[in-house]
Amino acid sequence: MSGASPSSVRIRSAFEHLAAALGDDGVLGPGSDLSAYEDPYAFAGSEDFRCSGAVLPRSVEEVQAVLAVANEHGIPLWTVSTGRNLGYGGAAPRVNGAIVLDMQRMNRILEVDEEHGYALVEPGVRFVDLYAYLREHRLKLWMSAPSLGWGSVLGNALERGIGYTPYGDHAAQICGLEVVLAIGDVVRTGMGALPGANTWQMYKGGYGPSLDGLFLQSNFGIVTKLGLWLMPQPAGLMSCVARFQRESDLEAAIDVLASLRRREIIQSNAQIGNVVREVAHRAPRSRWYDGPGAMPDEVIEEMRRDLGIGWWWLLRFGLYGDEELLDARFRIVQRAFSSIPGAEITGDKHLASGSDGLYACEVEGPPRRLAGVPGFFGLNLLKFRGDDCGHLDFSPIVAPSGREVTRVYELVKARAREHGIDYLAGFTASERHLTHIFPILYDKHDAEQTSNAAALLDTLIRELGKQGIGEYRAHLAFMDLIGEQYSFNRHALRRLNETLKDALDPNGILSPGKQGIWPAASRRQRAGTR
Ligand code: ADP
Repeated sequence: MSGASPSSVRIRSAFEHLAAALGDDGVLGPGSDLSAYEDPYAFAGSEDFRCSGAVLPRSVEEVQAVLAVANEHGIPLWTVSTGRNLGYGGAAPRVNGAIVLDMQRMNRILEVDEEHGYALVEPGVRFVDLYAYLREHRLKLWMSAPSLGWGSVLGNALERGIGYTPYGDHAAQICGLEVVLAIGDVVRTGMGALPGANTWQMYKGGYGPSLDGLFLQSNFGIVTKLGLWLMPQPAGLMSCVARFQRESDLEAAIDVLASLRRREIIQSNAQIGNVVREVAHRAPRSRWYDGPGAMPDEVIEEMRRDLGIGWWWLLRFGLYGDEELLDARFRIVQRAFSSIPGAEITGDKHLASGSDGLYACEVEGPPRRLAGVPGFFGLNLLKFRGDDCGHLDFSPIVAPSGREVTRVYELVKARAREHGIDYLAGFTASERHLTHIFPILYDKHDAEQTSNAAALLDTLIRELGKQGIGEYRAHLAFMDLIGEQYSFNRHALRRLNETLKDALDPNGILSPGKQGIWPAASRRQRAGTR
C-alpha cells in the first residue's frame, strides 16, 4: 500500500549520522526492538506500515539535527509525541521504511499559569503528567482528557481529540505553538513571534494570518511547544446520566440534546451510546454470544434482561458552576428531556467545598473524566471481543439533527450487520456538531474478522462520503480514501495543501501521506494513483 521504501544502504548511513548527533541512546536503528512502533491493532493491509527505526531527540537542537540527516538522505520521518494514537495506527508510519521521530523525551511542563489559566508543554507531556503537576502544586485549574489518559496533551490537541469538560474541544484551547519546519527553522506563532511578549498563551491572533491551524493534523512542521488554555476550577460539578427506553428515542433525544448544547445549558461534550456500547465496557460478549457474525437482536434483548437494563440509550454529561447554577441548569435539562416518554435523568452533585475541592469526585468510571481526570476506563471496551481484541475507529462528523442522526445510525447498523460486526454506536455532542465514534472491534488473530472490519470501514467511508458526510480523523490505511472524499472543485483543498507542503518541505521528509497530503517526491504513493 505504501509503495517504495528507502534502501537499506541509505537507512544504515542515516542511522550512523543520527547516532553521531543524538548519541546511541537517542536512536533505535534497524535490528532494534521496534515493536513499540507497530500498530497494536494490526489488520489486513496494516502490515505495510513499518518503520525502519526511531529517533528520540531531547531538544529543539536535536530535532534540527535529525531534520538535517533526513533531508540529506531523503528519508521520511513520522512524527509522534507519545504514539498512543489508538485505533488510528498508534505510532506506526504511513510510509514503509520511515523513521519514527518520537518526541517522548521532550517532556517538560514549561509553565502553568494559574492566574491566567494556561499551560505551555512539550510534546512528551502526557495527560497523567499534567494532571499530577496540577494536583501536586494544588493549582485550581482543570485540564480536559480524552477517554484514555495515557497519550500526550500536545499530540491529542493537534489531532483534534475531544474530552468531556467545557474545555473538551482540545484544538480550540490551543494558544501559541513553537514549530520546527522541515528546513530546520524554528517559528513561534501568534504573540510568540514578539520577543519578550507575555501574551503568547493569551491572544491567539498575533499580527497577520493565524497559522496555528496549519500545524493541526498536518505534516507541515514538528510542534515542539504548545500553549493550552486550562479551565479555572468551577465551584461545582453535577455528573448527569439520562436513560432512554426505546431504540427509536434516538431522534428526539438528539434534538433535545443538540438544542441544550447550542444554548450552552449543557456546557460540555455529552456522549450518548447504545446499550451494546455500554455493556461492552462491562463484560465480554462471549458471556451471551460466541456465534458467527454480529450479535443478533434477540441476544441483545437477552443481555439487557440478564443485566436488568431497561434502557436503550445512555447519555452522560456534566453541568458546571456555582450550586445555584447547577440546580437551575439541571431543572432546565430535566424539563427538556421530559418531552420523551419514559426518559429518566439523574444528577450527582459535587461541590468544591470538600477537603480537596472537586477532586473528591475521583471515583472510577465516567464521572472522573467530567472533571478532566485522566483515566483508563475506555480500555475496558477492548475486552469485549476477548484478550486479542483490536479496534479501528470510524469517526464521521454528523449534523446535530435527530432525523439525520437516526438515518446515519440505521445505515451504519445495517452495514455493520452485513459485515458481521457489532455496532457500538456512540455520538458525542459538541456545541454545533456530533462526532459519531464507532469503535469497530475484532479479534486480531481472526483473519475473517480483521478483513471484515477493514471492509466495513472502507464501505462506510465511501457510502457516507457520497452523502456529504466525512470523517475528522483516520487510520493510516484510510487517510487517502478519506482525503479522496473531500473533493470540491477537483480537490482544490488538497492541491492547496500540497502546494504548501512542497513550499515548506521541499524534500518531502515530514510524515508523507499524513491526512492524504503527499509531497511532490512521493505523491505517486497516494493509494489508488499507482
Ligand atoms: P498520542 O498523543 O495520543 O500519543 P501521537 O503522539 O501518536 O498521539 O500523535 C498523534 C498524531 O499527532 C501523530 O500521528 C502526528 O500526526 C501528530 N503529532 C503528534 N505529535 C506531533 C508533533 N510534535 N508535531 C507535529 N505533529 C504531531
